[in-house]
Amino acid sequence: MKSAGLSTRAQAVRPSATLAVAQKARTMRARGVDVLSFAAGEPDFVTPEPIREATIRALNEGLTHYAPTLGTPEARAAVAEKLTSENMIPGLGLEHVAIGVGGKHCLYLAMQALLDPGEEVLLPVPSWVSYAPQVQLAGGTVVPMPTTGETGFKVSPEQLRSAISPRSRIFLINSPSNPCGTMYSPEELRALAEVVAEAAASMAPRLVIVSDEIYEKILYGGRTHLSIGSINAVAQRTVTINGLSKAYAMTGWRVGYSACPGDWGRELIAAIGRLQSQMTSGIPTFIMPAIRVALESCDAEVQRMADAFARRAELIERRLRQIPGMRFPSPEGAFYVFPDVSDFFGKKDQSGHEIASAIDFADALLTEQAMAVVPGDDFGGCGENHIRISFACSEDQINAGMDRFAEFIGSLG
Ligand code: PMP
Ligand code: GLU
Repeated sequence: MKSAGLSTRAQAVRPSATLAVAQKARTMRARGVDVLSFAAGEPDFVTPEPIREATIRALNEGLTHYAPTLGTPEARAAVAEKLTSENMIPGLGLEHVAIGVGGKHCLYLAMQALLDPGEEVLLPVPSWVSYAPQVQLAGGTVVPMPTTGETGFKVSPEQLRSAISPRSRIFLINSPSNPCGTMYSPEELRALAEVVAEAAASMAPRLVIVSDEIYEKILYGGRTHLSIGSINAVAQRTVTINGLSKAYAMTGWRVGYSACPGDWGRELIAAIGRLQSQMTSGIPTFIMPAIRVALESCDAEVQRMADAFARRAELIERRLRQIPGMRFPSPEGAFYVFPDVSDFFGKKDQSGHEIASAIDFADALLTEQAMAVVPGDDFGGCGENHIRISFACSEDQINAGMDRFAEFIGSLG
């Protein structure tokens, strides 16, 4: 019998490459292979105790019914207060905040609420694997802005200015960056904000910024994070996306949020609420109290984890720099290094297969050394010459992984 088929949309969408490699590593481990996974971008820490305790209490108190779609007023207010006092985003009340199913679905809903077919999303590439498919699912068009390691994978104000058109709808920025591990300085963000403000006042009136700040608390070398939404010229047209997954080691909880001030921000959040009410109905009710606990009383735990990431960043950089041919900017934030491995293209692995791409490189590394990394292809742009190594794992694993990695590189002929 002929297959009943699938929608064009479902056929076209790519699976998440990061989740796919993480799953492959898990499957190999279940088969007994001693895989060292540097694939998933997720902290190895357990969620801090006060957050877990608040949730257990909430469950025992019977918070098991539906909650308001965009979150309880207490949880939304906690997010608004955090973004006001810490991120200096002006004019935020709880009506400007939507809590949703991880940063990922908050981004998805922002795209759904913002994009009409054919509208353009200005996207610095390489960038996180889910942005382009989400734009595609919303009927938008990605306008990739290529970057290179030499400039820290950052777009310049001139580059942004020349990419803007009357169809520009979103400038999507992710700082610190997954997969690049670099971040924009406050001055660089101000210059980019100025370009957006100018364009919005002239040829691109619908242009807004979507700023994914999920790695804001994982910073190295004394760097500081600035929320682009705190800059007055663009504050009323910046949607800030964040979540608890990375800073609080809560990937499995699925808590994210989006926020935007002003009248337009209120309208946008209401639209996200309508969409969310037809999709997920929001996050589990018994998680709501934990949001306030995380945002208000876990600074010490967050700092302890950030310090551990900083030690890991130093260690992996030192180990990688000892391997000939590794080119990458030093980690500045998030927990990734993104080396260019194209010098090894054309070489052969131990079983004689030629390494012609980052995918071949990552496959051979997994097969020969049981070390999982994400090939850079799906991050776009020059990503096809890179691999992403997530160092959100113990120093012992980093040392063992770097031994395997050095051996792998040494064995290529
Ligand atoms: N943005 C970036 C850049 C990420 O790396 C991630 C991690 N998956 C997310 C958003 C979404 O994370 P989550 O859905 O777990 O909040
Ligand atoms: N953001 C993480 C990563 O890039 C988790 C997986 C995902 O959601 O893509 O590995």
